[in-house]
Amino acid sequence: MPLDASPASPSARPNIWARSTCPHDCPSTCALQVEVLEPGDAHAPGGPAPGRIGKVRGHPEHPYTAGVICAKVARYAERIHHPDRLLNPLKRVGAKGVGREAFREISWDEALDEVAHRLAEAEARYGSETVWPYFYAGTMGHVQRDGIERLRHAKRWSRQWSTICTTLAESGWLAGVGAKSGVDAREIEKSDLVVVWGGNPVSTQVNVMTWIAKARKARGAKLVVVDPYRTGTAEQADIHLCLKPGTDAALAAAVIHVLLREGLADRDYLARMTDWDAGAEAHFLARPPEWAAPITGLTVEAIEGFARLYGSTKKSFIRVGYGFSRSRNGAASVHAVSGLPAVTGAWAVEGGGALWGNGAIYHLDKTLIEGLDLLDRSVRKLDQSRFGPVMTGDPGDLGDGPPVTALFVQNTNPANVCPETKKCLAGLARDDLFTCVHEQFLTETAAMADIVLPATMFLEHDDFYTASGHTWLQVTQKVVEAPGECRSNHEVICALAKRLGVAHPGFEMTALELIEATWQASGHGSALDLLEGDGWLDCSDSPDRQHFREGFAHPGGRYRFTADWAAIGQAHAGMPPRADYWTAIDLQDEKHPFRLVAAPARSYLNSTFTETPGSRKREQRPTLLIHPGALDDLGAADGDLMRVGNARGSIRLHARAFDGVQPDVVVIESIWPNKAFPDGLGVNTLTSADAGAPRGGAVFHDTAVWIERGA
Ligand code: SF4
Repeated sequence: MPLDASPASPSARPNIWARSTCPHDCPSTCALQVEVLEPGDAHAPGGPAPGRIGKVRGHPEHPYTAGVICAKVARYAERIHHPDRLLNPLKRVGAKGVGREAFREISWDEALDEVAHRLAEAEARYGSETVWPYFYAGTMGHVQRDGIERLRHAKRWSRQWSTICTTLAESGWLAGVGAKSGVDAREIEKSDLVVVWGGNPVSTQVNVMTWIAKARKARGAKLVVVDPYRTGTAEQADIHLCLKPGTDAALAAAVIHVLLREGLADRDYLARMTDWDAGAEAHFLARPPEWAAPITGLTVEAIEGFARLYGSTKKSFIRVGYGFSRSRNGAASVHAVSGLPAVTGAWAVEGGGALWGNGAIYHLDKTLIEGLDLLDRSVRKLDQSRFGPVMTGDPGDLGDGPPVTALFVQNTNPANVCPETKKCLAGLARDDLFTCVHEQFLTETAAMADIVLPATMFLEHDDFYTASGHTWLQVTQKVVEAPGECRSNHEVICALAKRLGVAHPGFEMTALELIEATWQASGHGSALDLLEGDGWLDCSDSPDRQHFREGFAHPGGRYRFTADWAAIGQAHAGMPPRADYWTAIDLQDEKHPFRLVAAPARSYLNSTFTETPGSRKREQRPTLLIHPGALDDLGAADGDLMRVGNARGSIRLHARAFDGVQPDVVVIESIWPNKAFPDGLGVNTLTSADAGAPRGGAVFHDTAVWIERGA
């Protein structure tokens, strides 16, 4: 553990600050300094003594974090030392979903023996594909998150098609740009115009605001936010384009129209660096602002004003968020937006271009961690976003394969975070299902499990991290001993492998050994050496590569305005090859006159932090943000209990009059636990498990609903 003694404390005792990295599902992957109050003692009689932490702050020397982190992580002491943390293995002896009283403590040996036995039993009955290891991004550390894949592949258990977050955005970005990379986010500082499109960094990636603030202060840069509601970020913007959800591509097409019409397109760049042709010219000339205005709900003047500002500002940087991708047409929308800097030539300019994410720059060889040498691609792959349909036996998901009769869950909480909650809960409630959940708290998924195992938090184990929002690899060691009998994901995976009789070098290594071997295999040198220093390594491409000055990542090197959707995914039927309004969304109708956006709450991160008092206090209660006019029309008032529903079910929650949306759009910030709602069902009761085109992806912000005053 790298420790610095700092005399900066006002108290007599010098603070001990340990370096770490935020593991949560956020593009910022902040470098942290963690105040260690009691280091803990790994050699204490009776087992390790837990350590205690105090403050958590952004590392001031990390070039991207620059000392800034979000409030929810700054309050981490209340999470890591929370009285409700799981401390011992538990076996359920009562009904599913009841809570702690339905469990009794058991030993680790008993727990692991039972899990191994039940998984093997299920396998003997139905074949290996009946077991479904299920995980996601509760930690973004590569060892502790992805080691479950090694066990999966070794056992030939059902694979997971990980679609719940990035797939739609990735599909759209790849269609135009060709690679999962973009311009270094720090170049925002050198921009004259920053466009935050479909994201709310004030709540979900605070560091973006740091760099925007620098550009505004130093250069008087303008900030434009494109978002269907007035978020915290939109409140700080010079211009907020408050469009209808799912219409972003129409806005982008109309902006391109204005750029062409008013001579603001960089014709030389289009000819040299893109696939622009007569077909593209005709397509965009047929999509004027007058066409886009009724689709987006924006005025012609607003669209033209933004287009002129964008077209006349060469140093324009688009920070592409995930929000607008979470729609059936989301990939097409992301593709459309990525084309804007190709029309103006901003891609080539310092301070210009766009960034969605940087996944491609790290070139990790994860064979050891994920057991890729054991991967059998003939084993079936189940779509994680369709957890509900899969677990309730939808033949469209299971095909000819067996039902899922054994689940092993790490790092996620599908009872809350997956679409179609009723199906998720029905699946988890099945009597023929064995479920083991390795968790930090008794989440609503864990409460449905047969065996619950207590998990470490990031400050209690070793790992390394990449970031999508910046360019650094970071390696960290544990800062404090874990409380109780908590074990890391890596320890549990290796212990199960032993009981199940499967072999792989990764099961024999410590987390630190896996980290070191992976870094060496990936050409990043020694992680151990880096631990002696600041622990981070810049993996950024050269500026020319970031700006695609030597060509985009498609064969031929050109940005593609005409997407080859068939090359990206099989479900491409009907997708518009060029930026357009694709109506394959959950459109309003007479019965469902509102469109619902299920946005992230500022103090939660998916379902994480819903247990911490500071976050709960700030978020108060599940709330329906609804336009005052719409509330009036419904005969309701601010604070009333409302019922929101569609064919998938209905939920109740309190209304807040909010004029930062169009009158037919409502927002529920979440992800609150189901039990925080009066009827025990939360927002994902309403969202659909339909797969976005062309290769899956959860469509959380693409939901038509009815609303009434809720009795
Ligand atoms: S901004 Fe994101 S990465 Fe940084 S501390 Fe908060 S959750 Fe973690």
